[in-house]
Amino acid sequence: MGIQGDYHIHTPLCQHATGPIEACVERGIELGLREIGFACHNPLPAGVGSDVRMREDQLDDYVRQVTALRERYRGRIEVLLGIEMDYVEGLEEYLAEQVDRYPWDYIVGSVHYLDCECQLGAWKGELPFDAEEQYTRYYGLVRHMVRSGLCDILSHLDVPKRSGRMPGQRGLQELDLTLKEIARADLCIEINTSGYRHADLELKETYPAFSIVEQAMALNIPFIVNSDAHAPEQVGLKFKEVEAFLRQKGCRQLARFKQRRREMYPI
Ligand SMILES: [Zn+2]
Ligand SMILES: [Zn+2]
Repeated sequence: MGIQGDYHIHTPLCQHATGPIEACVERGIELGLREIGFACHNPLPAGVGSDVRMREDQLDDYVRQVTALRERYRGRIEVLLGIEMDYVEGLEEYLAEQVDRYPWDYIVGSVHYLDCECQLGAWKGELPFDAEEQYTRYYGLVRHMVRSGLCDILSHLDVPKRSGRMPGQRGLQELDLTLKEIARADLCIEINTSGYRHADLELKETYPAFSIVEQAMALNIPFIVNSDAHAPEQVGLKFKEVEAFLRQKGCRQLARFKQRRREMYPI
């Protein structure tokens, strides 16, 4: 029992993760996980954000690598095929085509940029506007992503805090609105443990913070716990701590996915 999967694992194809990918699977087995899912950064057109993602011509290879692992580890751990999709306004058709083209088990939806040109990082310390605008733009884009129907899981939902700036009243209202929309759309929120290892995060905690997880719990939003591992040793990071918190708050089940269908399992 307990948390049985880690669905947000990167591969060296995105140029800022280390492998080998087999080592991530081995680590998952070592931790006693039943499932391990890869969700590397998706390609975007016209070289947008090209330094932190795989190229378009590498996507087939990514799918092939993960599918091969599934066969290789069958019976020991289930390997799932996911992708971390960057939601960028205006690219919905492009993204929909990418989503349709492969047999994904799930899509992790992320907002990493606050503009269509992908120049303004969602957690950049220096932006041409204040923190309220930063959070307002960020949550506005998350809601667009929710409405787009392109993803199953919403990743690191309060990632702008990595900038060191916290939301004010307006930002918090935007968050509240966003959580309600996620609940209506029946989507799943990721509890991402990478905040425990992010050097630039002053308070080491999950994305989103436990207080936001509690807010989402009150709306009956389902959760999944992921490490966002960019190296094999990061797989399953701090899962025990998150599990203890969830139990303490009365959360008794977590989501799992297969072929983009969600089911809940008891923890
Ligand atoms: Zn990354
Ligand atoms: Zn991300």
